[in-house]
Amino acid sequence: MSLAPYASAPERSRGRRHPEPAPGTRSEYQRDRDRIVHCAAFRRLEYKTQVFVNHEGDLFRTRLTHSLEVAQIARTAARALALNEDLCEAISLAHDLGHTPFGHAGQDALNDCMREYGGFEHNAQSLRVVDELEDKYAAFRGLNLTFETREGVLKHCSEARARTLGDVGERFLKRQQPSLEAQLANVADEIAYNNHDVDDGLRAHLLTIAQLREIPLFARHHDEVLQTYSGLNDKQARHETVRRIINTLVTDLIENTHARLREFAPSHPDDIRAQSRPLVAFSDAIQQENLALKRFLREQLYRHHQVYRIMAKAQRVVRELFVALFDDPRLMPPEFFEEAQTAERESGLTGRARMVADYIAGMTDRYALDEYDRLFDPRRLR
Ligand code: MG
Repeated sequence: MSLAPYASAPERSRGRRHPEPAPGTRSEYQRDRDRIVHCAAFRRLEYKTQVFVNHEGDLFRTRLTHSLEVAQIARTAARALALNEDLCEAISLAHDLGHTPFGHAGQDALNDCMREYGGFEHNAQSLRVVDELEDKYAAFRGLNLTFETREGVLKHCSEARARTLGDVGERFLKRQQPSLEAQLANVADEIAYNNHDVDDGLRAHLLTIAQLREIPLFARHHDEVLQTYSGLNDKQARHETVRRIINTLVTDLIENTHARLREFAPSHPDDIRAQSRPLVAFSDAIQQENLALKRFLREQLYRHHQVYRIMAKAQRVVRELFVALFDDPRLMPPEFFEEAQTAERESGLTGRARMVADYIAGMTDRYALDEYDRLFDPRRLR
């Protein structure tokens, strides 16, 4: 299918930091996607979680399955809007590579630890993973992805950090937008996590159907399911409702974005970038309903007593790991210790802190718990 004139076409890419010959049979964005799928940080997503801790049960979403769901939603919408599916997929699969163990609790704890040393932002870390930390290519550090994929990975960023990031940081200083594909991957992320958190929250008995029925978006679709079918079990009713909500959100997103594109009639991806607001968006009515669902999840799931207790514990693990490793970087694996020494020679304790943060951010949930035991349990010998 041919791409819309405002889609990101690989032949118009702003290119890679280190120029490379064009790929033979793939497009530039397919090559990005393939490099992401083959990188170590991508494999680690299997053992990282955002709301639940990895060992809580095998049925819950991990960051890997979350990223696959984001890619599925983004590609569906991209195809309907004649945007670049490969770029959407690459951005979706890479968007969470920089997340710490234990989801947002881990990121908040690490950000606190890094306060005096430039802070820690998971989006900036995702970019750091693909630009610097993956280290297996002979000709360059990182994965050497295209500008467009890197731009999409850096969803949010503080102005202070944006100033240090060169080309991909510019839009945060000029208050411009990224490509439509990046905007799409961003909304697909939100659709995916809201809905899988409803699903996982119900499955974990942290949320109830009765509670969720106070949310119009849920109640409407739940009613539809009950009216269409009788005698569904809980699992079927839950799944039928969630899949209908996702379908409503994706359809609304496609239709509303399509209408906005028709009205604005951009002729080049740079017309999109020059806008002060994203063009990929829900209709106002669905936006309000989606916000109500988000608010509900924040109050009822992310701040649920049981979630809060486990996240407090997770934060303690991250904090204590940071303090111990920052105090004595020799406790890290030798390659990290060496990097920390080099960084410290170049930029003092800020350099050392960044290496410790990189080491901790790269840990999976289970590796972090195990490393904690190895460091602090005097009976553990290794
Ligand atoms: Mg995400």
